[in-house]
Amino acid sequence: VAVDEESAGGRIVLRPERVWLGGRFIWDVAVEIDTQTGRIARVGAAAERPAGAVPVERLPRRALLPGFVNAHSHTFQRLIRGRTQWRPGSAPGADFWSWREAMYAAALALSPDAVHDVARFCFLEMLRAGYTSVGEFHYLHNAPDGSPYDEPNELALRVAAAAAEVGIRLRLLNVCYARGGIDRPLEVAQRRFATPDLDAFLARTAALRASLRDEPTAAVGVAPHSVRAVPRGWLRTLHEFAVEQDMPFHIHASEQPAEVEASVAAYGLRPMELLAREDALDARTTLVHATHVTPDEIALLGGAGAVVAACPTTERDLGDGILHAAALIGAGAAIAIGSDSQTVIAPLEEIRLLEYHERLRTLQRIVIATGEPGEPGEPRAADEPGAERRHVAPVLLAAGTRAGARSLRLPAGDLHAGALADLVAVDLDHEALAGADEDDDALAAALALSAPPDVVRDVWVHGRRVVRDRAHPLDQEATRAFRSVAARR
Ligand SMILES: [Zn+2]
Repeated sequence: VAVDEESAGGRIVLRPERVWLGGRFIWDVAVEIDTQTGRIARVGAAAERPAGAVPVERLPRRALLPGFVNAHSHTFQRLIRGRTQWRPGSAPGADFWSWREAMYAAALALSPDAVHDVARFCFLEMLRAGYTSVGEFHYLHNAPDGSPYDEPNELALRVAAAAAEVGIRLRLLNVCYARGGIDRPLEVAQRRFATPDLDAFLARTAALRASLRDEPTAAVGVAPHSVRAVPRGWLRTLHEFAVEQDMPFHIHASEQPAEVEASVAAYGLRPMELLAREDALDARTTLVHATHVTPDEIALLGGAGAVVAACPTTERDLGDGILHAAALIGAGAAIAIGSDSQTVIAPLEEIRLLEYHERLRTLQRIVIATGEPGEPGEPRAADEPGAERRHVAPVLLAAGTRAGARSLRLPAGDLHAGALADLVAVDLDHEALAGADEDDDALAAALALSAPPDVVRDVWVHGRRVVRDRAHPLDQEATRAFRSVAARR
């Protein structure tokens, strides 16, 4: 039933079959959203009548969940999907570092218009898969020859415009990138990323924040690229800036063994130890990847209450390694997800790989489950008296929603009054869920561990429905523009 949301005085009540609340599906719940503030006004019993004449939109055979949060993305890398899956016959092998050459070539070729067109298409693909917000780790700053644009934030603003056009919530994580390695200057191929002056970078980040001040669905964060790419002394200043400005602080860390070795060789410290020593590791910090960490580093991350942005579809594509997801959660860290290189854009696949990769490594099943310290959801009572069941799905769904919101510092990720009205509706008649939908726990598990991205039918961001029955008004235009950029490569 189509309801004109604008004509309803800014409020609408959604009445799906089930709602994901507190780590389980609950029936007969209504979610009232305020389309003017973009917030959830009320979550309550469906039988309660809302105050005033608020229109009710019934969503039969739909389950409503918080929208997924993409904590780590580089939109321009969508352009090289499918184009790096080969190696030269003469080379001994391909790895992260050879993939990076292809990625740099794509980065060097893009005009500001192309940056916009690729970002817009990529954001659209994210929305349709159920991501309602994205942390764009943005390091494409300069013109192709390496000189700054007249407007130094030109490309960041193009990305922000793309996000606003399609209606995804954006946290633009502005990246500081000063050198090619701990003891190496920037490479020629890295000239578009360069931010060689710390004060200029901070001023530019503050200016970007001011430019986006009136955008209800955009905000800024600060992100040293990695311990490789910024001088040690800058980490503390960048983190202090994030605290002052109340922004998220993100950094790539320990994605590859070579990066860890370089940090140990230069500083005598592994990356997490270095960040802790520089007072840059706390609950504001998101470590992207954190794949190659020792038990001591896991304890550091947990003690700090930091967030790890895992990007398992990218990590498997690039041969990065397997995240110690269960140990990190057990230590007190939160795990969020990111589509990173865009080799796959599917939040449900990212969350399930957290568990599936652990199974392959440990030769066990149900490695990440409810009932451990710091994990959401209670164990469920089983049929036998006194017995309980520890389920996987609530922890995985929390990684895709609540932990991502924490990483991007958004009041989202759970459905309650006052939270941002960023929602997805799942089709309970989808063939992938048939049979499992008879049981709420089985439904959650089928969704988290089995279902394809197209179970998501409708998407709301800031109280506004941006995807309806998997369609978006900009589908054709955005696809045409993206194809045209790809064809020119
Ligand atoms: Zn990345």
